[in-house]
Amino acid sequence: MVEENRQTEPTNASAVTLPELPTDVWQKCSTCEAMVYRKDFEQNLKVCPKCGYHERIGAWERLAITVDEGSFLEWDSELSPSDPLNFPEYADKVSRDQKRTGLKDAALTGKATIEGLQVAIGITDFNFMGGSMGSVVGEKISRLMERAIEERLPVFIVIGSGGGARMQEGIFSLMQMGKTSAVCSRLHEAKLPYIVLLTDSMAGVHASFGSLADIILAEPGSLVGFTGPRVIELSLKVKVPKEHRQAEFQFQHGHIDLIVPRKQVRPTVAKILRFWYDI
Ligand SMILES: [Zn+2]
Repeated sequence: MVEENRQTEPTNASAVTLPELPTDVWQKCSTCEAMVYRKDFEQNLKVCPKCGYHERIGAWERLAITVDEGSFLEWDSELSPSDPLNFPEYADKVSRDQKRTGLKDAALTGKATIEGLQVAIGITDFNFMGGSMGSVVGEKISRLMERAIEERLPVFIVIGSGGGARMQEGIFSLMQMGKTSAVCSRLHEAKLPYIVLLTDSMAGVHASFGSLADIILAEPGSLVGFTGPRVIELSLKVKVPKEHRQAEFQFQHGHIDLIVPRKQVRPTVAKILRFWYDI
């Protein structure tokens, strides 16, 4: 009897073809899974209007929503990574991420204006090998600060780095931590303000220029810390709650000055710059 019913009664699955949602119109939030209008999502600077999740954005996109249109002058755009250790697959990964991001390495640097105020700006892009720091990132961040000292400019860096120091460059990568930390000191000695916005900041990047700023801002939900969960679990045999690596936890414990939603970043940085420019 059951078999007969199966044969004679069409099921929904065979009778109805559900229309596929056009992906260019709708966007599914990767956190709350709500379907939101892509247009609304874009207008909200890729922050989910339902749950507030801040999707990662690339360096060029970040630049466009941060600085005054047409004001950006790029520095050191020609610097490209080498493969000093002949690390397996490194050259292929670099080539893949260069195409993906439109960058030669994970950092974009230059000078621009924000609400008319001049600033030396750096942005690291998570989509380029996790925003990790090799020789080029370290060199570009160092030159950014050195130029800022020469031109008496405040420095603003947006950090998107979940990878820290880039293992494919070994010691050449690790020494960038010392180098960028040293130039941060010179910036402090020159009495120029250094502001960072953490979107993700982990390991060798956070343990160098990521945490040495005068003012540390972070977007909601950013990953911030030193050691990743797998390393902690393997070495210390303890489980660390996920929230311990989030910006909000770091803010509550005094490591971050302010949590700033993406739409407020530009006016907040402009406000800080106005204090320094005394206008
Ligand atoms: Zn959401």
